[in-house]
Amino acid sequence: MLCPICNGLEQLTAICPVCSLQTDDYGRLEDFAGPYAPYQPDTYTNNETLPSWSQSEQSCGHIVYCSNCVKSFEVSVSKWH
Ligand SMILES: [Zn+2]
Ligand SMILES: [Zn+2]
Repeated sequence: MLCPICNGLEQLTAICPVCSLQTDDYGRLEDFAGPYAPYQPDTYTNNETLPSWSQSEQSCGHIVYCSNCVKSFEVSVSKWH
């Protein structure tokens, strides 16, 4: 199982749920939620509070950013076999 986004096989294209504009790929959720990440949402202080899908074998958690809303969103990317 591999994530096509992490491996550069595909571009992450996600639409902002608020304004429906194209968002920018901001990297992996784990990188943002990691112990040394500069950006650490309050809800992700440790691995136990991560959403179940982010630790799943089937999907990879990514962060996208909407420059229009100035907000970041979580996206679950299905891994390839
Ligand atoms: Zn990934
Ligand atoms: Zn937006």
